[in-house]
Amino acid sequence: MPRPIHATIHPAAVRANLERARHAAPDARVWAVVKADAYGHGIERVFEAVRGADGIALLDLAEAQRVRALGWRGPILLLEGTFEPRDLELCSRLSLWHVVHCDAQIDWLSAHKTHVPHRVFLKMNSGMNRLGFTPERFRAAFARLSALPQVDEISLMTHFSDADGARGIAHQVAAFQAASQDLPGERSICNSAALLRHGLQAEVRLDWVRAGVALYGGAPDHPERTAQDWQLQPAMTLASRLIAVQHLNEGDTVGYGSRFTATAPMSIGVVACGYADGYPRHAPDGTPVLVDGVRTRVVGRVSMDMLTVDLSPVPSAGIGSEVTLWGRGPGGVLLPVDEVAQAAGTIGYELMCALAPRVPVSTD
Ligand code: PLP
Repeated sequence: MPRPIHATIHPAAVRANLERARHAAPDARVWAVVKADAYGHGIERVFEAVRGADGIALLDLAEAQRVRALGWRGPILLLEGTFEPRDLELCSRLSLWHVVHCDAQIDWLSAHKTHVPHRVFLKMNSGMNRLGFTPERFRAAFARLSALPQVDEISLMTHFSDADGARGIAHQVAAFQAASQDLPGERSICNSAALLRHGLQAEVRLDWVRAGVALYGGAPDHPERTAQDWQLQPAMTLASRLIAVQHLNEGDTVGYGSRFTATAPMSIGVVACGYADGYPRHAPDGTPVLVDGVRTRVVGRVSMDMLTVDLSPVPSAGIGSEVTLWGRGPGGVLLPVDEVAQAAGTIGYELMCALAPRVPVSTD
């Protein structure tokens, strides 16, 4: 028997979430963001579901080649653009759109001999201070690019630092608008949080939105709004089974470091899932988990291959009982990945992306 851990990807959920993104930002075209191997879901597994998008945005040439190999003929956008001059050759051959965020990338373009003109998204740094030209230098970068015969279409973009939080997007929208007004070209500024929260405003959704985590059923602004609040469906379930049951007396402890101490007699279940499967080692006592569809909690430190759970709410559980680490449990009970992430001091994005290669994955 193989070890009982297993992940299931739900392409129908991705399809429904894409529709949800479309409704949230009506009339905008949607880039489906499939970087990081579709946020851990697998590009090939979600491809049919994201086919309905207007474009596919991703990180690097290797991912772009995979998407072209699947037969996608539509736009593909490299979200960080080229990493070195020779990337431009493959950009031309694969007919990629690419982000231009620094002068070096413009230098590479100007030296590139190509018969196929490039389509680029010029990126403004409107406050994130990661990639892009400052508002002061944005117009000069635009002028440099427009003078290049190698470039035939320039679109404009920026990326929000706080679309999911209290600081919001207004200051970045204002900086983007001020520095880009009068410039021609299509525009894209919204990630999932911005499109869900502000997509009904035409001046925010603009021409293209870039939907990432929402496609996979993660709430970008959890816990302020949950995936259910946003009507998003989980696209990944991580499940395993109980492989042992232990009966503790008052004062007994569990696992490495004896982190959890029983205050009364209780049963605990040992689950075939640990941090080497991608479960967060920092999950504290109390992190939610489902056993046979019943909500209970992690007790004791997560180890490499196992974790331990309180069986008090589900006394009928035994070896073989189904454990849902996140996603869809038996009977349709949901355990959002965002809740597990929040308990462990991280975000749903990280848990999805961290699913370990040793976990067998299938689609339903
Ligand atoms: N656009 C850019 C430039 C990004 O880097 C990302 C992801 O980090 C996204 C869009 C998608 O963000 P989200 O997953 O929050 O929708």
